[in-house]
Amino acid sequence: MMGKNKPAPDDHFLYKYRYLLMAVILVFTAILSVTYWQITWIRNNQDEQTSVLRSATTFSLQIHYDEMEALEGNENDINKTEYEHLKSHINGLVTVPNKIKAAYLLKEVDAEIIYLVDYLSPQANDFITPGVVFVDAPEKFSVAYTTKEAVMVMSLLDRGKKWNSAIAPIINEDTNEVVGLLRLDYDINDWNLGLLSRLVPDLIISLLFFCFVIISFRSLFHYYQAKTVRNKYELTATLYRSIFEQAVVGIAVVEDKRFVSKSKFGDNNMNPMFEKILGRSSDELERISWPDITHPDDLEADIVMFNKFKKGDIEGYSLNKRFLKPDGSYVWTYMTINHFLDGNNDNPLHLCLLRDITNEKVISDSLNESERSKSILFSNLPGMAYRVIRDNDWQTQFVSSGCFGLTGYSMEQFVVKKEITLGSIIAPEYRKKVSQEWDAALLKKLPFRYEYEIITAQGEKRWVLDTAQAVYNEFGVVEALEGMMLDISERKAAELKLQYTFEHDEETGLLNVGSLHDRMRADDKKPNKPKRGIISVNLSTFQRISMTYGFLYVANLFNKVAQRLNQYSTKNRTLYKSYENRLVYYVKGYKDIQELVDFALKIKEELSDLLKVERVGAGIGILEIENDKPLNINYISKRALMASSKVINLDKTEIGICVFDESLESRVEREELVKQLLTEVANNGGNDALYMVFQPILNLRTKRITSFEALARLKHEKLGMISPLEFIPLAEESKLIIPLGWNIFRQSFTFLKKLEDLGYTKIHVAVNVSAVQMFANNFVKDLIKLIKEMGVNPNKITIELTESVFSNDLNQINNILLQLRAYGIKITIDDFGTGYSSLARERDLKVDSLKIDKYFIDKLMIISKEEAITGDIIKMAHKLGQVVVAEGVEHDKQMQYLIENDCDLIQGYFISKPLEPVAAIDFLIKLNKE
Ligand code: C2E
Ligand code: CA
Ligand code: CA
Repeated sequence: MMGKNKPAPDDHFLYKYRYLLMAVILVFTAILSVTYWQITWIRNNQDEQTSVLRSATTFSLQIHYDEMEALEGNENDINKTEYEHLKSHINGLVTVPNKIKAAYLLKEVDAEIIYLVDYLSPQANDFITPGVVFVDAPEKFSVAYTTKEAVMVMSLLDRGKKWNSAIAPIINEDTNEVVGLLRLDYDINDWNLGLLSRLVPDLIISLLFFCFVIISFRSLFHYYQAKTVRNKYELTATLYRSIFEQAVVGIAVVEDKRFVSKSKFGDNNMNPMFEKILGRSSDELERISWPDITHPDDLEADIVMFNKFKKGDIEGYSLNKRFLKPDGSYVWTYMTINHFLDGNNDNPLHLCLLRDITNEKVISDSLNESERSKSILFSNLPGMAYRVIRDNDWQTQFVSSGCFGLTGYSMEQFVVKKEITLGSIIAPEYRKKVSQEWDAALLKKLPFRYEYEIITAQGEKRWVLDTAQAVYNEFGVVEALEGMMLDISERKAAELKLQYTFEHDEETGLLNVGSLHDRMRADDKKPNKPKRGIISVNLSTFQRISMTYGFLYVANLFNKVAQRLNQYSTKNRTLYKSYENRLVYYVKGYKDIQELVDFALKIKEELSDLLKVERVGAGIGILEIENDKPLNINYISKRALMASSKVINLDKTEIGICVFDESLESRVEREELVKQLLTEVANNGGNDALYMVFQPILNLRTKRITSFEALARLKHEKLGMISPLEFIPLAEESKLIIPLGWNIFRQSFTFLKKLEDLGYTKIHVAVNVSAVQMFANNFVKDLIKLIKEMGVNPNKITIELTESVFSNDLNQINNILLQLRAYGIKITIDDFGTGYSSLARERDLKVDSLKIDKYFIDKLMIISKEEAITGDIIKMAHKLGQVVVAEGVEHDKQMQYLIENDCDLIQGYFISKPLEPVAAIDFLIKLNKE
């Protein structure tokens, strides 16, 4: 379309150089005219001269040559009649029609021209006297003499003026000689004026021509100009037409309330889109007014605006409105009304633009709905939702209303004033980490989730849980980060408290054993593992002094020790509370083992000072962790404990130091084997590896066996017989003692049943029970259940409880003891006098008997009767109504002392070693028969 209109009219050279061309042509025309005028002038001048000469010749012929000859050429002539006659003649020539201003008769005398007659009377001012020489007479005067022809002398200067003069010879007809000259002067101005007046038609003609040229040019230019404008207009019109026809916006011209479908030139006033949006043809639309097809709900608003528009209050208006379609449905439009042509003042035309926004409306309605629910959600959020740009500042685009409650800053401060950013409220110590977390999340396109502290406007720290994710644009570039920040301060406080409890020992406030293990594991993962060692401070001796000083006292003492030793904690040396009565230093980056030993010595000194009053010993074990082996915490703890317990001497108050070495290592290995076997036994009986032997107990008065103590035995394939002194603590430590304990009960009850079956209905069986087992859940219930199940007499069952039981809460112990006793079961305190059991507390314990420890029986062999306190113990126990058993009796001397001191029962190798069931029964039959 555009190609068709080429070449562009502006490019036409006539149009392009129109001013230059015009100038050239005008100059040319001017030159032509001037030349033409000049030629005409010259020609007219010649014609005039010819006619003047002709007149001059004619006039010269009328002059009488004889009269001329009669004149002498001096003053005398004045009076002559010829002179008079000639003067009147030439004077007659000077008339207006002849245009002659002056006339003279002249004569050449001696190559000089002299005046003969002038046309004026002698009285006139300019009168020239005859005979006066015409001084400046031009050559031409002589020419008339020689040629006998009239000549023109142009611009003759005479009497102070210029003249065009015709000079005609006066000839003697007879002699054919020139007798004088007739000079006729014409006024040069009149002359030129005459010429000019003759030029007037030519001037007019050339002026007309000039005008014609200009007019022609102008019209030519106008033609091209018009052509250009037309082309331009056509182009623009085509463009606008096609835009109009193809526009995605509906366009229509409206007059008042009616659509005008066609312009007065017949063009469409309504584009196809307009028809499409409204679902009606232009013809149809012309017949209806727009209020008819406006949705009733939108009509009022439109009319209000339209009236304002019509009144001229507003220039135009836009609104969202619905138009009714012929099928009854409606279309949502965005309508804009503007002035179009104001020519007709009564009903000016205006333009109506329509955009179909039905889809947008649906989307925006649903968006509004989702916005509404979002805002409800946000306002109920225990924190805030946010959207930030991920730049260095974390510029905030949006925060929900919860931001004030959470951060103390208002939404305005975040979003509008930009005084504060989300990045800047993060507590400084977390900023780098938060950023790193984000980097990691973005790299994997994963959601972000991190807990950190923020600083509120009030300067408080607050824990938040920040969950968010990135919003990517269509190119996969991160546009923003959207997320939620929840206040988790309360939870965090609880968590931190929990964590503290989890990591610390309640009594001492030291980090606990779990923390130690965590620390060890963490250090083990480090690429450059430092040298690490364990210094175990074993205060298990405290158990022994508990009975003497009381449980609380010992606990306080332990605490005191812990605090004092904790003063030696440094960055690389931390004190932990390990298991019962044990403390552990975890040392990192030390130089060599000597450094550890030196430190242990320092601790030893400190402990000696602390424990001198109580006169109690302790053990310090040193162990280096081997970095080249995989970390085995259990292995390490065991060995450290072993080293520390090895140097504990229960009888002495010494504090020993032991570095774990190879000799201890074999002990550890043995322990492992034993534990393995115990586990097997606990799980499946272990092929009778665990069995019971029974040691008879003799009544010193009746000299009969009244009971047997059941003692456990363990037989290992490789290690042979293992003492209960070795395996019982291991079983207790691993809690295997609980299942093993029930095994022991079964075997013991089987023995008891056998005795009953054999008729020995009065014989008791005493079973050793660990504190671990006794304090396990449902102990009493399960025991009674077993007794019933096996059909044994509870009255014939005695339970031996060792020292360790009494380190626990007395009420709790008594509660269990009372239940057992209520059921008929007897209770004995084993190893009396060595540990917790003190005579002072004895009263409060609900027991039936006590067993004096072998320690006191052994003493009977060394010290004198007087010195021995054994008798006192027996007396006191009797006062409390308790039966007294002496154990470990090996010699007669001991027995004699016990008889003397009224001891009730004795047990020991002197009577019998522990025997296997069959042998035990044989022994019973044999002894009780005698
Ligand atoms: P205990 O309850 O004090 O048992 C007495 C220990 O002294 C037994 O050692 C016994 O064999 C030994 N004995 C008895 N008379 C004499 C003697 O005249 N001279 C010497 N030198 N020793 C004598 P055993 O059987 O090795 O038991 C050691 C400890 O192991 C027991 O001390 C008891 O505490 C514990 N134990 C043994 N069997 C069991 C059991 O079935 N359950 C529990 N929980 N502990 C047990
Ligand atoms: Ca015992
Ligand atoms: Ca004992």
